Amino acid sequence: MIPPASPRVLTRTRCRGQTETSRSSYSLLLDNIKTQISTEPFEDVYKVVPDKELGRGKFAVVKRCVEKSTGTLYAAKFLRKRRKGQDCRSEVLHEVAVLELTDPSHRIITLHQVYETPTEMVLVLEYAAGGEIFDRCVAEGDEAFTQDEVKQIMRQILEGLAFLHRNRIVHLDLKPQNIMLTCVRPLGDIKIVDFGLSRRLCQNQELREIMGTPEYVAPEILNYEPISTATDMWSIGVLVYVMLTGTSPFLGDDKQETFLNISQINIDYTEDELQDLPDSAINFIQSLLIKEPKSRATAEECLRHPWLQDSDQKTPEDLLSQFCKQPHTKPASISSQSSSSSVEEGSVVEELIVVAAYTMKQCRSPMPDPESLSPDSKVVSKRFRFEEPFNSLKELLFDEV
Ligand code: ADP
Ligand code: MG
Repeated sequence: MIPPASPRVLTRTRCRGQTETSRSSYSLLLDNIKTQISTEPFEDVYKVVPDKELGRGKFAVVKRCVEKSTGTLYAAKFLRKRRKGQDCRSEVLHEVAVLELTDPSHRIITLHQVYETPTEMVLVLEYAAGGEIFDRCVAEGDEAFTQDEVKQIMRQILEGLAFLHRNRIVHLDLKPQNIMLTCVRPLGDIKIVDFGLSRRLCQNQELREIMGTPEYVAPEILNYEPISTATDMWSIGVLVYVMLTGTSPFLGDDKQETFLNISQINIDYTEDELQDLPDSAINFIQSLLIKEPKSRATAEECLRHPWLQDSDQKTPEDLLSQFCKQPHTKPASISSQSSSSSVEEGSVVEELIVVAAYTMKQCRSPMPDPESLSPDSKVVSKRFRFEEPFNSLKELLFDEV
């Protein structure tokens, strides 16, 4: 019997070191940056506000700061250049390059300036004063999001994501901690942050890497199958479930159980948490939590989904019956589905391949039979806990940091 975990436990250990498997991804990092990197002392221009940090990971800390000449608040992300004995400057430059590329989208955080010291790089970012949507996701009662607020936020996230995907960028770490708000009350706009794991999809190029945050990771990552823009769409499915119910759909008692739940799409649409939701909201989730990436709705399709439409003239359910005729919106089967590793011949190879051969043995070892899971494991799987992203299977399995 699996002992119940305390609900909503937050774990904040960071796992982002370079490994044999991820090193080859350097070729997929953007390196063409326009921003002038300043080497003058950061403190000459900015004063760090001496209150609590805005956020912290294993290799980055984000602090509020004021530009002395203007009095404007910014969020300064201090990133270590050396991680696990390796020079990771190119990874930081990639994050800068992506932020430059995404500058036209107001759904994505704006980069103001970049500083460099011998040990660190500092990304001076637009300050999102409303904090992470995470805080509202775990809130109870009046503090929790209303369904209309979830819709409003989801539309904005999808607008940002549609922009990214049009530019062949995959975020690969979409979760409530990486979606910020400009203001809490009244509810402001969202800003997508943290492009540390993002990649630009290239033709004919493989990425031998695995990444993401356990609860949000898509089945193709666990199955060493190609990553595509659909990989982000899976995370959107998990995110919207979390925002609407306050529970995490695939969370298990440990990573292995979480991964088992994900790879078997072990989700029960008759759960109590979902009973008050309209059919259109359930259908929205179902159009994303599909094992086959090509069958998932795209960001553009999600924006047209009846659940996100104004329902002045027609009810979402009327619109839903029309939407369901579209091929991409077939509901996910809630039973286990066999994974498909086939890639259509001749299709544009805007995909990344996940290969982690040296850990295959451990990962391909027989998974527990879902039928043999005790009822408690289902209870545990509904509890709420956020884990930090991993970027290699080795880290994932052996908890390397
Ligand atoms: P990491 O790569 O360590 O996850 P993030 O870019 O996600 O770094 O930043 C860590 C945390 O700092 C975020 O989860 C968020 O809470 C906070 N943060 C990041 N950027 C901003 C910002 N522009 N404004 C306000 N807070 C931010
Ligand atoms: Mg983050």
